[in-house]
Amino acid sequence: MNVTVADGAGFCFGVKRALKIAFDAARKGDGPIVTLGPIIHNPQVVERLEDEGLRVVSELGEVDGGTLVVRSHGLPRRVFDDAASRGIDIVDATCPFVKQAQDRATQLEQEGYSVVVIGEEDHPEVLSITGNLERPATVVDGPRGLGEISKLPRVGIVCQTTQPLEHLTAVTDALLERTRELKVFNTICEATFARQESALKLAGRVDLMLVVGGKNSANTRRLWELCREAGCDAYHIETKDELEPEWFEGKREVGITGGASTPQWIIQEIVEAVEDT
Ligand code: SF4
Repeated sequence: MNVTVADGAGFCFGVKRALKIAFDAARKGDGPIVTLGPIIHNPQVVERLEDEGLRVVSELGEVDGGTLVVRSHGLPRRVFDDAASRGIDIVDATCPFVKQAQDRATQLEQEGYSVVVIGEEDHPEVLSITGNLERPATVVDGPRGLGEISKLPRVGIVCQTTQPLEHLTAVTDALLERTRELKVFNTICEATFARQESALKLAGRVDLMLVVGGKNSANTRRLWELCREAGCDAYHIETKDELEPEWFEGKREVGITGGASTPQWIIQEIVEAVEDT
């Protein structure tokens, strides 16, 4: 079986940076070191970090002092305030590109625009963007979610950094027809663009795509959807243990890509397992 790994598969700049910050904080080990939710959407990496002493909690009430490492997705402002009031130190590993999306949304709000965030309503990054605003924002993942917002005279748009460009253009087009003034910040990060483009290019020339990453990783799921929408057989897996021999029957060329939170060692294990098929 011939195996090709897509350019840019695996950890992005923001995830590498967040992991380094988290490991450094764990090594200093000053009281409990925690993250609110897993630091990245990959259970295998989270297990390794737990071995280093980084605990995952679901709320700050579970922590007594110590340090909170803010994930690359960022956090709403009220959580920073809550941590400060509990005497919890903060180590902020918010990805600079996510921070930029937060800042752009704040800028739009301050300039008097009604803010629309294109993304997944419950995604931590989206919650960090809306949670840094003074007023509620509208979150949509396509034009259908716009509802009443389309009747407002001044609307400003930002995007969850891992959204596909088509979502941004579809919402922008829909609003252009119905809004007097529209300001758009394309806050999709370059790493996401590059990864999606290289996955699509590879999907166009192989018999089968394997998309590697946490089942709870939105950007990995999106890569899988893109490969399938391109007409390629594609499977979303977390580890080599999920590979099924029948997937490879009659196939010669296999492409592999991985989400922003997929470590190289997991991709490499899958490459070796497929090459041996
Ligand atoms: S995908 Fe982009 S925005 Fe998200 S963590 Fe990675 S580099 Fe940052």
